[in-house]
Amino acid sequence: MKIAVLCGGVGGAKLADGLSRALPPENLTIIVNTGDDFEHLGLLICPDLDTVCYTLAGIANPETGWGRADESWNALAAIDSLGGPSWFRLGDRDLGTHLERTRCLAQGQTLSQVTSGFCRSWNILPNVIPMSDRAVRTMVSTEAYGELTFQDYFVRRRCEPKVTGFRFSGAEHALPAPGTLEAIEAADAVILSPSNPWVSLDPILALPGIRSAVGRKPVAAVSSIIGGKTVKGPAAKMFQELGFEPSAPAIALHYRDILDGFILDQVDLALGGDIRPLGIQVAAFQTLMNSPADRRRLAEDVLNFIPSIL
Ligand code: GDP
Repeated sequence: MKIAVLCGGVGGAKLADGLSRALPPENLTIIVNTGDDFEHLGLLICPDLDTVCYTLAGIANPETGWGRADESWNALAAIDSLGGPSWFRLGDRDLGTHLERTRCLAQGQTLSQVTSGFCRSWNILPNVIPMSDRAVRTMVSTEAYGELTFQDYFVRRRCEPKVTGFRFSGAEHALPAPGTLEAIEAADAVILSPSNPWVSLDPILALPGIRSAVGRKPVAAVSSIIGGKTVKGPAAKMFQELGFEPSAPAIALHYRDILDGFILDQVDLALGGDIRPLGIQVAAFQTLMNSPADRRRLAEDVLNFIPSIL
């Protein structure tokens, strides 16, 4: 079975890793959000892309969910001691990624070419594609500060400001990266990973042609909300601030126009009754991925569920 999975950082990376253990690499394309990307210290930082690649390469930091394992912080300490910006945590090994990516881009490679080169170096076999080679920037509208750039909201202000909406600057003109639409077209099904719907998956779906291409395929989503809470990050808080009760059905409703199947956690089994009337098939599995074995088991459960939506 050929699968295209849409992915943000932490939750998406874990399911993508599970899928990479459960499928032959040629049957898996991982399309990654780049709306969180930003320029910092003169470098292009791609947080979700790096989280996905580090996770697939087995070099991610398991404690933080971002950055690399066995990290040291000498460069950041040096920047800080010179009065430079140290609010965005970048370890020494991680900085190497951003330096090399920025060098390759300056030499004329596209982001997707750089990514596929890095994947070869890290021995990542499935196809990992940034959603676009053009810059798309997620902007967060807040009550107190107006519109903030994503990392200003997310890291500097620790997701504290109340959100009123989102805008994906540049999305309307950003063509999907080469191979993205083709991978969706060739897939037997598309999986929406358990990533933040507002700021990880919506930016991908906002690109020209993606939502309609995905909508023509059988689509299954895995809930990023378990028992009314997120495992990590501000998705539940965002639902609440935008006037929705944070729950697994709220995620299904968010994607109802493209969704054929929805996977919620076992603890939310009873909520399936709120989703089935939308014409969406529902299954409940253990969706919390605390270990590589959990990732693979959830990926297999999702793959076994797919035939019911074909
Ligand atoms: P970010 O870009 O780094 O914020 O990462 P994502 O958007 O991919 O991931 C954030 C979402 O992943 C949050 O809504 C979490 O609740 C969800 N998430 C993280 N880990 C898990 C997990 O093990 N299982 C499930 N179901 N969701 C998870």
